[in-house]
Amino acid sequence: MTATLTAPVTARPRVRQTRLLIDGQWRDSVSGKTFATIDPATEMKIADVAEGDRTDIDLAVKAARKAFETGPWPAMDARHRGRLLYKLADLIEKNKEELAALETLDNGKPIKDSLAADLPLVIDCFRYYAGWADKIHGQVIPVRGNYFTYTRREPVGVAGQIIPWNFPLLMIAWKWGPALAAGCTIVLKPAEQTPLTALRLGELAMEAGFPAGVINIVPGFGPTAGAALVEHPGVDKIAFTGEYRTAQVIMKAASQTLKRVTFELGGKSPNVVFADADLDAAVEGAHFGLFFNQGQCCCAGSRLFIEESVHDEFVAKLLHSVKKRKIGDPFDPATDQGPQVDKAQYDKILHYIEAGKKEGARCLTGGGRDGDKGFFIQPTVFDNVTDKMSIATDEIFGPVLSVLKFRDINEVVDRANNTFYGLAAAVWTRDVGKAHAIAHRVRAGTVWVNCYDVFDAAAPFGGFKMSGMGRELGEKGLDNYTEVKTVVIAKD
Ligand code: ADP
Repeated sequence: MTATLTAPVTARPRVRQTRLLIDGQWRDSVSGKTFATIDPATEMKIADVAEGDRTDIDLAVKAARKAFETGPWPAMDARHRGRLLYKLADLIEKNKEELAALETLDNGKPIKDSLAADLPLVIDCFRYYAGWADKIHGQVIPVRGNYFTYTRREPVGVAGQIIPWNFPLLMIAWKWGPALAAGCTIVLKPAEQTPLTALRLGELAMEAGFPAGVINIVPGFGPTAGAALVEHPGVDKIAFTGEYRTAQVIMKAASQTLKRVTFELGGKSPNVVFADADLDAAVEGAHFGLFFNQGQCCCAGSRLFIEESVHDEFVAKLLHSVKKRKIGDPFDPATDQGPQVDKAQYDKILHYIEAGKKEGARCLTGGGRDGDKGFFIQPTVFDNVTDKMSIATDEIFGPVLSVLKFRDINEVVDRANNTFYGLAAAVWTRDVGKAHAIAHRVRAGTVWVNCYDVFDAAAPFGGFKMSGMGRELGEKGLDNYTEVKTVVIAKD
């Protein structure tokens, strides 16, 4: 399983846009600084991108404020906002090969995944929220006395959106869709590892006809551009996806201006396989639930609990399947696994693999680097993992699966819940009673039964405990971008 960079089948895309989008204009950063974005498959520079900092964020926030308060956006009727979102979805669809290729280039994810997973979910999410734009409304409330009382759901204002690098376009869709449907304006800070698709999407948004200042995009680094966005008094709300440690910093800083915050953070999701499950389906779910996207999923099923009586049979099947993974050039359509996104992630994952070995887990396959160029890591499976090992407690965010054994349902519920995370969980069983028991007793924002990683724009997603605050997607996702106003009118 050596990474070979063969001739690409899907062409590597041209990088069209590397500047900041502020007030409808593409600009260099005020400082003139740029940063390099790297191809994780080759470790070569792809492009230099304008590096926004506090000054650029200030300009972007001012543009977003102006667009929120004056101009065509607040005067536009809701159906028209919906039409712009539909138009953006259509433009994404028209350019989906290019966007998928750009995502693969910047992030390293296999082109087959960008094309079959990321892009369709992105398009669907924009269409889903396009449909909501003219369906966000308040209520008439019967109150005591001679008053007519109703509520309005108004846009929260300027939304600062800070996203990670694992699903760059999809995280934009989850954030722009509800914000724009609700009538907010946006300052987006993409992750420094993957700014390119955000900028291309900005071009498409301009082409779709969103008015100047409604969508602003400022690539840059977390402690500079990100922190400036969180601290800016002109921003009403921060929506953040990333690590819980960053969320702690953001929450503290946002408290100064009492910004609304919503967080979608990490996880150490339990994937529970009972002996009565369809084992072949569960093997596929365990494999896909962890290794999809190089293991770089906040909801990765990284703690695989297997009922003792089927452990050996299950692990044998799992190994057979994992050993077939094809690692290599993400532009090869046959590739299952590309490189990790950057050197920092790659080093962190290798550190956990070493820790797993030292702490006494049994490495059944993988366990190191793949090839000698690019940030490729072998798909790794550890058996004999115990609950206190760091590979069972910490989010690794890489292709490293920890297998744990259990005997009964109460034990596995306790152990599944023995984490400060609570993003997702899955259970594999043919017993509907057990399925419901796990679904109800495991403290996680999503529980999959006999499936894994099934997402839909209509179904809310988010975390219990330190995996998040608030929910994205679905009708729930609109709450993040609306304020409720109560209007009380004396009848005479
Ligand atoms: P990861 O370790 O996976 O990169 P982070 O939470 O560090 O996750 O990053 C997610 C996003 O948060 C990125 O866009 C990053 O630039 C941004 N970020 C990092 N630190 C801060 C910060 N102090 N304030 C605001 N944003 C930040």
